[in-house]
Amino acid sequence: MALAERRAVVAGLGEPPFRAVQLSRHFFGRFTQRPEEMTDLPRASRDALAQALLPPLLTPERELSCDGGATRKTLWRLADGALVESVLMRYPDRVTMCVSSQAGCGMGCPFCATGQAGLTRNLSAAEIVAQVVAGARLLADGQVPGGPGPAHRVSNVVFMGMGEPLANYASVLAAIRRLTEPLPEGMGISQRSVTVSTVGLVPAIARLAAEGLSVTLAVSLHAPDDELRDTLVPVNRRWRVAEVLAAARDYAAATGRRVSVEYALIAGVNDQAWRAALLAELLAGRLVHVNLIPLNPTPGSTWTESRPADQREFVRRLAARRVPCTVRDTRGREIDGACGQLAASARP
Ligand code: SAH
Ligand code: SF4
Repeated sequence: MALAERRAVVAGLGEPPFRAVQLSRHFFGRFTQRPEEMTDLPRASRDALAQALLPPLLTPERELSCDGGATRKTLWRLADGALVESVLMRYPDRVTMCVSSQAGCGMGCPFCATGQAGLTRNLSAAEIVAQVVAGARLLADGQVPGGPGPAHRVSNVVFMGMGEPLANYASVLAAIRRLTEPLPEGMGISQRSVTVSTVGLVPAIARLAAEGLSVTLAVSLHAPDDELRDTLVPVNRRWRVAEVLAAARDYAAATGRRVSVEYALIAGVNDQAWRAALLAELLAGRLVHVNLIPLNPTPGSTWTESRPADQREFVRRLAARRVPCTVRDTRGREIDGACGQLAASARP
């Protein structure tokens, strides 16, 4: 809910509307929804207010950590039993929360664990926001090693967990607004520090470009040619490489934001030097940044990550055309870090 709606609900409970601000500060500022911690609210109304506005939505089902505790993955059970994952990654200068936007995903990309299970349902905006607040709570409680530095609060949010965010547009948009509006309306994370990753739903990219937000767009390309992309990203049969890249270009023009192009390097499948050259050709001179992601192999798949020499050659081909490019670090491998793997392993 927006703050005005929260005020209306509070008033409906017979409480003064400013209680909505108090509750908002508890949730978005102190990261709690426990009535006993809301000592500035009258004891008699705490439970009813928290119950009405801040019902618990996520129950931790499993927690895994690595990198000395700086990477934490949580498998959450939602009220109806659906499972989703979020990952907190603490770096010296920032903390990134990777959140899920759907339980499962209907897009069917064959290299992705989430894609294998199909779509269970969309998450609500509240279920998305709650993942970020849970991470902020861990940090505030001192449960994530790294000491008090600049990175003691969630600074970045990436929609790179389970699901296709632009297939759950309304909830994702509402979640972005709550995450980025200042207290007490929302959590006060910078729009520029929010990244929406999409498989390439062209009309929704255009819609997002028109929202007047300055969030970062990431487009999961994975192949520069339609023939291969049709198999790696089945939705490519609907929106082709050229259309996706045109939408990305329009997004960059509308927002002034550099678009990320995601490319999972799969040995012998999409990592040939000629494909790197073709990708470079498509992207040269544009406001983009290529993120090469060594494939995180999913159980039951024969695909593996590219050999280091092939990765290096791929980078060289992009660099030769001055296309900015980084190879993403592979945090969280040991904890089934790739999207959907933990939920898949928890299924009977
Ligand atoms: N559905 C959105 C966002 C979630 S997936 C999308 O596809 O963009 C986030 C990123 O993880 C995408 O770039 C996706 O292609 C990538 N990904 C999925 N499975 C992977 C795997 N096994 N190894 C490496 N990257 C993977
Ligand atoms: Fe869905 Fe993204 Fe996985 Fe494709 S890569 S199945 S779009 S979550």
